[in-house]
Amino acid sequence: MRVRRLRCTVAALLLLPCIAGARAPAISIVIDDLGDRLAESRAAAELPGPVACAMLPESPYTPQIAALAQARGKEVMLHLPLQPGQGRGHPLTILDTASPEQRNALLQRALAAVPQAVGVNNHQGSRLTSESEPMRWLMQALREHGGLYFIDSRTSAATQAEAEAWQRDLPTTRRQVFLDNSRGAAALQGEWQRLLALARKNGTALAIGHPYPETLALLQREIPRLQAQGIRLIAPSALIREQGTSRGLRVAAAPLRLSAAMSQPGESPMQAVEQNPATAVIEAAVATPSPVTSTATAADAAVEPVVTPAPSANPGEVFR
Ligand SMILES: [Zn+2]
Repeated sequence: MRVRRLRCTVAALLLLPCIAGARAPAISIVIDDLGDRLAESRAAAELPGPVACAMLPESPYTPQIAALAQARGKEVMLHLPLQPGQGRGHPLTILDTASPEQRNALLQRALAAVPQAVGVNNHQGSRLTSESEPMRWLMQALREHGGLYFIDSRTSAATQAEAEAWQRDLPTTRRQVFLDNSRGAAALQGEWQRLLALARKNGTALAIGHPYPETLALLQREIPRLQAQGIRLIAPSALIREQGTSRGLRVAAAPLRLSAAMSQPGESPMQAVEQNPATAVIEAAVATPSPVTSTATAADAAVEPVVTPAPSANPGEVFR
């Protein structure tokens, strides 16, 4: 009897490192469409934890907010305007009718407008992301720029962006939840719970939200509660690395470029968890990554949140 109990104790002790090594579910949150409105953009940059801030290029407050987000230890991203399903959208939108020289110039201009960017996600883009050739060009160009990751906002169920990023070996992942397609309290809370449920089920999940007062209030309230719920909030680069590990695929051929502030001691316990982002290379467990197949859902269908103009900034123009 005593021997059996001893065996049980030894077995339990042997299991402990496995249990301790198991990682809690993790989420990443990207707030995009930032830079047009000062107060809302600033509130997003000052959210608790490593919420990523995706900046529209050449918006009036983009330099100021990108610098603030970086100082707050957040990952800064370029929110790259790509051709929507209808119309032209943002002034710097890359259209499928653009010549190679034109689209290259637009991309370089957008990248230059957010020099702190460590990653990119698409603004709108239902049209362009559904076309393979422009996505092949884009992912190759981002790879040549060096050190960036790409998050497919999935504004169209037909998107080719993530699959092309995988093909080019660019660190990538996808948006699974839009927090605020509907801004009612019940809808927001429902999407938040769906995000947490996805993370519990799959280990990781990524949401995109917008700087609406309702979304910011939700995040200000819920982010501090995550730890008690056993959920980690991590930066997108960390999420991509974790997903790469779990899929056994090489997600980063080169170390990810990280904001300078990210390598310094964090300001909150949640940030401190993610203070070791420099070791970004995950080696290949499988030599050839298989492209991600498009798993369309109703929620993906043609969702293109559009920023309304900042009231104080040149009324009549949407993005200035
Ligand atoms: Zn957008």
